[in-house]
Amino acid sequence: AYVVTEPCIKCKYTDCVEVCPVNCFYEGANFLVIHPDECIDCGACEPVCPTKAIFPESDLPGEYKEYKELNAKFAGQW
Ligand code: SF4
Repeated sequence: AYVVTEPCIKCKYTDCVEVCPVNCFYEGANFLVIHPDECIDCGACEPVCPTKAIFPESDLPGEYKEYKELNAKFAGQW
């Protein structure tokens, strides 16, 4: 699954939501998140994110590792 990270915080753009074919974006505390089980790994959201906040889970930068759990949590998986 793809993961939304820190640069998304307080971002007002929702380009990612518009391009996602399965509507798997959810509102987190102050940023958007991706539901890990609903994301089909199409990659459409990554290039349209104006803050470059979206990464494939397999390519998540070290400083954003905790965002994997935060996405799952805020998407309602917990
Ligand atoms: Fe949606 Fe595709 Fe992005 Fe997953 S990779 S969140 S399915 S647009």
